[in-house]
Amino acid sequence: MISPEIQQRIDYARQIIRQARHLVVFTGAGISTPSGIPDFRSKGSGLWEQYDPMEVASLTTFRNHPERFWEWKRPLMLKIWDAHPNPAHQALARLETQGKVRTVITQNIDGLHQRAGSQNVLELHGSIETMNCPGCARRYPSLQFRPLLEQGQDLPRCPVCQRILKPDVVLFEEMLPHDTWQAAEEHCARADAILVAGSSLEVWPAAQLPEMAVSHGATLILVNLSPTHLDTRAEVLLPLDVSEAIPQLAQL
Ligand code: ZN
Repeated sequence: MISPEIQQRIDYARQIIRQARHLVVFTGAGISTPSGIPDFRSKGSGLWEQYDPMEVASLTTFRNHPERFWEWKRPLMLKIWDAHPNPAHQALARLETQGKVRTVITQNIDGLHQRAGSQNVLELHGSIETMNCPGCARRYPSLQFRPLLEQGQDLPRCPVCQRILKPDVVLFEEMLPHDTWQAAEEHCARADAILVAGSSLEVWPAAQLPEMAVSHGATLILVNLSPTHLDTRAEVLLPLDVSEAIPQLAQL
């Protein structure tokens, strides 16, 4: 049930989106939780509780204990492949088709924006869709290894040199992909409006981007269930579930 006050905010946000000439969207884990993909910062997700994310999702663990890395990554990848885009992903894709959204900058690795139909997606933390071989640098579509991962015994290995494969996601201790970061920075510098959806803005350096856009004069619409450090700088603050709020914002 949406209160009249929140409804007013939604109407105002819609007006900002209608008038925007360069609207950028920034998304985090919260946009995929309605699709059933757990956020490692929220309790009760199961997939993360037995692990310390900083430890298991690190380059050191992948190199020194690949079996431990894959024991954690395997169920997450299978869960992502079984998941479907939710109404928030779909609404953002529609806004792009209508020429409203210039780009979606996402912290997520699940590819759900693309599966919903978004074309211009900047994946700051990479994607599980491909894997690379640390030995010979060959790259493979991850789905090729799905049957093996479902079986749950052997680790995915490079068919050429037999090294254990690494998904093309950014791990702790790794740099963000340079070209993607640069493109995201350029969009944030040019944006006249930025819609942050489902991000607590806690993961750095990704969280710097919305702040950069605001500092360059972009109007901030912020949809997130929990408070963020940018709340006070938001023109419109919507503490709602993204799958409820974003489809309404997209009804222009
Ligand atoms: Zn190889």
